[in-house]
Amino acid sequence: MENVVIIGTGCAGLTAAIYTARANLNPLVITGMMPGGLLTTTSIVENYPGFPDGIDGYELMTRMQKQAEKFGARVKFGEVESVEVAQRPFTLTVDGEKVSTQTIIIASGAGHRHLGLKSEDLLEKKGVTYCATCDGALPVFRNQPLVVVGGGDSACEEATYLTRFASVVYLVHRRDTLRASKIMAERTLAHPKIKPVWDSVVTEVLDAKLDKVTGVRLKNLKTNAESELACAGVFVAIGHVPNTQLFKGVIDMDDAGYIAPKRGTETNVPGVFVAGDCSDHVYRQAITAAGLGCAAAIDAERYLAKINQ
Ligand code: NAP
Repeated sequence: MENVVIIGTGCAGLTAAIYTARANLNPLVITGMMPGGLLTTTSIVENYPGFPDGIDGYELMTRMQKQAEKFGARVKFGEVESVEVAQRPFTLTVDGEKVSTQTIIIASGAGHRHLGLKSEDLLEKKGVTYCATCDGALPVFRNQPLVVVGGGDSACEEATYLTRFASVVYLVHRRDTLRASKIMAERTLAHPKIKPVWDSVVTEVLDAKLDKVTGVRLKNLKTNAESELACAGVFVAIGHVPNTQLFKGVIDMDDAGYIAPKRGTETNVPGVFVAGDCSDHVYRQAITAAGLGCAAAIDAERYLAKINQ
């Protein structure tokens, strides 16, 4: 039987792995279908402390995994298909195999909601991105017109952040009022570099044939008029989707599917802990996920010490 199974190998999962491994708990870490998590899709990470010259997202995650393995974590490629937490030990099914464990740390992360366009997929990382903090400062976006899609706090935050680099930021929103909080909306709309494009959706990112972003095709939902807008980058900020489907009905979560911890990283099921983006819709940074992974590991370690007294 396992002491601890960690679900997810993003910053939260791998930090939890480092800490539980150093506590001699010999953790089993299940990667999920995206080993390394969302950060592996980023080019250069410039805001993770300790790397003054930035670090490639993929490399950062590879290093974290190495660090966890050095202390005895076992990282297994696979997907958790089901979890049974009604009685202890808990049982997980991983690619058809049953695994029993005393504790679980859920660090399954979140995915960016996509527009669902073929051109969006083709141009991802070639001008289409889902993270202004990660990619906004790249040379390709400097002094160029940029498009942000969305009308929530994230879109406002992304648009405002991008004004540091862009010549102009077009905020494309499908309605004519922002969903964002009043203060964020007012600040965003008052910014001289941000130009809202109301009632509009992106129907195509241009130009997949050139293998880079040159603009977007837009449709006005009120008039059905189509138009094109030149830009060097498209930042999609239409929300996140926490990867928590698996735990629905078992672990308490909010209406949006984010797992709601009771105290610290504890969930409603004693022995099941949560860390990172699957429980955090506010900060969503590599460093905050890592911090929560550390906290979950410490909580799990203390819980094990208590039940095994
Ligand atoms: P959100 O509030 O759910 O907003 C998503 C936005 O994207 C909405 O404006 C929505 O349009 C639009 N949208 C959704 N699907 C779309 C689609 N398929 N095509 C075009 N547009 C689409 O998500 P969020 O902005 O990521 O915020 C999530 C949560 O985190 C919120 O509670 C927010 O307050 C919080 N947050 C807080 C801060 C902060 O306080 N600093 C920063 C970021 C996020 P509609 O409005 O028409 O639905």
